[in-house]
Amino acid sequence: MKVLVINSGSSSLKYQLYDMTDESVLAKGLVERIGMDSSILTHKPTGKEEVTEVSEILEHNTAIRKVIEKLTDKTHGVLESVSEINAVGHRVVHGGEFFKESAIVDQQAKKDIRALIDLAPLHNPAAIMGIDASEVNMPGVPQVVVFDTAFHQTMPEKAYLYAIPRVLYNKYKVRRYGFHGTSHYYVSHAAADFLGKPLEDLKVITAHIGNGGSLTAVQGGISVDTSMGMTPLEGLMMGTRSGDLDPAIVPYVMNKEELTVSEVNLMLNKHSGLQAISGISSDMREITDGLEKGDPHSTLAFEMYEYRLRKYIGSYAAAMNGVDVLVFTAGVGENSAIVRKSVCENLSYLGVEIDEELNKVRSGDPRRISTPNSKVEVLVVPTNEELVIARDTYKLINK
Ligand code: ADP
Repeated sequence: MKVLVINSGSSSLKYQLYDMTDESVLAKGLVERIGMDSSILTHKPTGKEEVTEVSEILEHNTAIRKVIEKLTDKTHGVLESVSEINAVGHRVVHGGEFFKESAIVDQQAKKDIRALIDLAPLHNPAAIMGIDASEVNMPGVPQVVVFDTAFHQTMPEKAYLYAIPRVLYNKYKVRRYGFHGTSHYYVSHAAADFLGKPLEDLKVITAHIGNGGSLTAVQGGISVDTSMGMTPLEGLMMGTRSGDLDPAIVPYVMNKEELTVSEVNLMLNKHSGLQAISGISSDMREITDGLEKGDPHSTLAFEMYEYRLRKYIGSYAAAMNGVDVLVFTAGVGENSAIVRKSVCENLSYLGVEIDEELNKVRSGDPRRISTPNSKVEVLVVPTNEELVIARDTYKLINK
């Protein structure tokens, strides 16, 4: 039983092929610069040499055809024929209120994903392209959609509504949806497994911090609050996104600078966050380098990032009336010992105590970085959204 996992962006397409008998990855890869000149396909078959191919890939249909060519290639392939792929699982960013869990792709599902383009104009069209291209290249193969928002559909009204006129929710579904749900789901479950305790009995805060970042409060095994909102702009300070700000700033700046809606969106999504404050980079590695060299702008960017992250952790501890487990994941969470240390040092009021040596350990496995005395278990859990997508796909098509 083989499942192909596809994550379509507007100009990129990531894939992973799983053998579900043992959940091993047979191959993975990435197509970049779709629709631009010189598209790049990087194919990594497990146990064989990696290949990179530069060619003209104008749309997702060709991208998937090229991926299948590589998967079935005599030298670099891992399959005899495309017919060995039993199912395809797609990552979809926005499932709105339609999708509380993963779903088999049918006409209705496609219609619902299309209806949500309004809420996720940058993301859902790419998912649709990936689904259509898979149908063309793998006709008859069942497809499943897995949503970034689904895990957060358990949030209570008090957490997902904004304190604005109710009519905006009724008419336009303006509310908090939250994102990175597949990752928050995976790492909260993996944390409970690691600790050997039922997730239902734990109050967990999961910090998924990469280029984008979000925090989730997981109580009784479900998401009860999360920091991203109607869009992935709200919440933490991120690489290029502002995170929380006074909403009155938006009309004020638009007025002063005579900005259009798309210009102000661009400013808040692409020219804010670490990038704006440091003036150097959106990448935490470069910010940390700047911090270590004493660059004042990088230092401020780092301090703001850490301060805002820590305030959110405190607010979720308040939301759940306590916290048993704090989990760090994604690019920054998994790799930046200094971010973890700085945050945890200032959470001593919660009884958080981390072991500096354990915090420095690098490993691809879940690990504990707190001391035996710590009142909160602090873990680093590498996320694996693709595996969740493969598992859900497998489960749904075998139902
Ligand atoms: P995305 O949100 O795009 O999925 P990732 O979760 O892969 O991204 O996170 C990417 C970010 O992780 C990079 O921009 C970088 O800031 C950060 N990162 C990766 N490695 C390190 C490291 N060793 N130290 C600090 N930050 C790191």
